[in-house]
Amino acid sequence: MTSSTPIKCDLLLKGGHVIDPVNGIDGPMDVAVSGIKIAAVNPDIPPNSASRVADVSGCYVTPGLIDLHAHSWGSVAAMFPDEMCLPYGVTTMLDAGGSGWRNFDDFRNARIVPAVTRVFALLNIVGAGMAGDDAEQNVSDMDAGATAEKILERRDIVVGIKTAHFRGPGWENVDRALEAAERSGTWVMVDQNAVETRTTDQLLEKLRPGDVATHCFAWNKPIIGDDGQVKSHFREARDRGVQFDVGSGNNSFSFAMAKPSIEQGFLPNTISTDTRRKSLLSTFATMPETMTKLLAIGMSLTDVVERSTIAPARQLGHPELGSLSVGADADIAVLELSTGSFGLTDGGRTGFRVMQADRRLVPQMTVREGVVAWDLNGRSHEHWTNTPPPDNRLP
Ligand SMILES: [Zn+2]
Repeated sequence: MTSSTPIKCDLLLKGGHVIDPVNGIDGPMDVAVSGIKIAAVNPDIPPNSASRVADVSGCYVTPGLIDLHAHSWGSVAAMFPDEMCLPYGVTTMLDAGGSGWRNFDDFRNARIVPAVTRVFALLNIVGAGMAGDDAEQNVSDMDAGATAEKILERRDIVVGIKTAHFRGPGWENVDRALEAAERSGTWVMVDQNAVETRTTDQLLEKLRPGDVATHCFAWNKPIIGDDGQVKSHFREARDRGVQFDVGSGNNSFSFAMAKPSIEQGFLPNTISTDTRRKSLLSTFATMPETMTKLLAIGMSLTDVVERSTIAPARQLGHPELGSLSVGADADIAVLELSTGSFGLTDGGRTGFRVMQADRRLVPQMTVREGVVAWDLNGRSHEHWTNTPPPDNRLP
């Protein structure tokens, strides 16, 4: 289709700079939406072809962001999907193990079904899910068979297994999570600090290609050795196909770990937030802000967008969600890279630290299946002077 071909569409995002790694687009483009689908991505689509036009000039337009590690269930100050995602350009989230096989249905009914946001889930290897620290130590509730069975029953939503926060001396949680993954043909996301009897190099050796080590730049899971270099077992695991995810969160992202890693070429495979109430309030762990922190460290915008869209889409087993391809679901993020003087915060067991930056990604609009779900500056709305007169027939 050429730019002069008239098209009929419901929504036109006009004047933005599209970054869509899947289609090799990084430049000025308009995006047309018909119904719930992407209708066209072309330079200069005429505004009269659309019933609604949003001027997104000065903004980046990307596939809807995909948060591979967030919390909408469990005892971790989880939040409802829509308010934790839509104002931040996120159209798809993965609940990272809030529920287990025992309470996934409760989670689904209470949070997933009513959400506008597309929600996938990892089942916790603990049957009760993240039901508090004691529950997460309960080895007798780590049932690989029941977990695999539930995954296979709800494969439309559940994409794998999470194991986290285990403090015991052994490998029961990891081994059973891996067993459940083998039985269900899925993958495992691990959040585990080393103890003397089970170290991080041993953990990474256990992980299979496609399994995910989250919180990869956490101060208490140090990727950087005493020599200032990325540890060799991290590189060996990456070479075998183990995936490294950010999961920035309240205390799991440290500039002191992330900056040297990225400078040494060890980029995260996926960018994610570990969003829950505490993460939002302490380090503003949203997708755009986490992306901003990685930009400040030196990653390119293209790399950051790729690892926040198509990379997590592939990890979910849904690559169709990570692009603006014509015919794809119209899930779109509009982000402004504003300039100024900003302080970006990290967190960890040593407390919080700040890094100064001169750029910050500010989410402007979120489109979910063709519907404008968030519009910070009313770009898709008519001017207020077009308000019709009120009905004054009653005094
Ligand atoms: Zn988490």
